[in-house]
Amino acid sequence: MKITAENLSKTYIGSGDDVKALKPCSFTVENGERIAVTGESGSGKSTLLHLLGGLEEATGGSIKYDTLDLAKMTQNECDDFRLKNIGIVFQSFNLIPELTAYENIILPLMLQNQNIDKEYVNKIIQQLGLYDRTDHLTGEMSGGQQQKTALARALVNRPKILLCDEPTGNLDKQNTETVMNLIFETAKELNITLIVVTHNESITKRFDRIITISDGVIGGDV
Ligand code: ADP
Ligand code: MG
Repeated sequence: MKITAENLSKTYIGSGDDVKALKPCSFTVENGERIAVTGESGSGKSTLLHLLGGLEEATGGSIKYDTLDLAKMTQNECDDFRLKNIGIVFQSFNLIPELTAYENIILPLMLQNQNIDKEYVNKIIQQLGLYDRTDHLTGEMSGGQQQKTALARALVNRPKILLCDEPTGNLDKQNTETVMNLIFETAKELNITLIVVTHNESITKRFDRIITISDGVIGGDV
């Protein structure tokens, strides 16, 4: 699925000074393209991902998925579209701690009353090395295990777009390799449009393009 952002911007208005987290920017991500997003802490990377996932409302500009305009969807349509088409790995995982890893992973399917493709789900679990951990409550798992569970959940609905916010931030070198291999393999297999926020230079090399953000301004190979 192609993503088109036009004059997209986000300003947080709170108790203090307004924060211009993302200054107006325009870019296109082609269907199946793989993009890395880098930038210092606080530069606006997570904000960009949240906007692209329809999780936060833009202050200005527009986002289109193919020809579908996000701003023209109702909240329900947007939630439904996300559930069916977008996988998101949050920086802080956003797992439900009272559910087991397996229950968290299949949640997107349960919410859609969809059958569970056990072969596909088990393959992901196996590849992530989570097979002996799936009946543990995620609230009792290590950061690395939670990160992997969050990735499995993001892939379970075979998304057309995968947004990952520092998906290897809690992993050692070996596990980083395992997770990135799974992301790239699945992206290729399912022709997923991939956007990954990462600081890791050994990872950014694998992408088609790198977008950098500095103080809310997008640069790099936009
Ligand atoms: P990054 O992911 O690159 O570290 P963020 O996108 O999280 O950066 O944040 C960009 C800027 O927006 C920061 O200055 C941050 O403090 C601010 N910000 C992020 N979320 C909110 C929010 N919900 N309310 C107010 N300010 C926010
Ligand atoms: Mg962030």
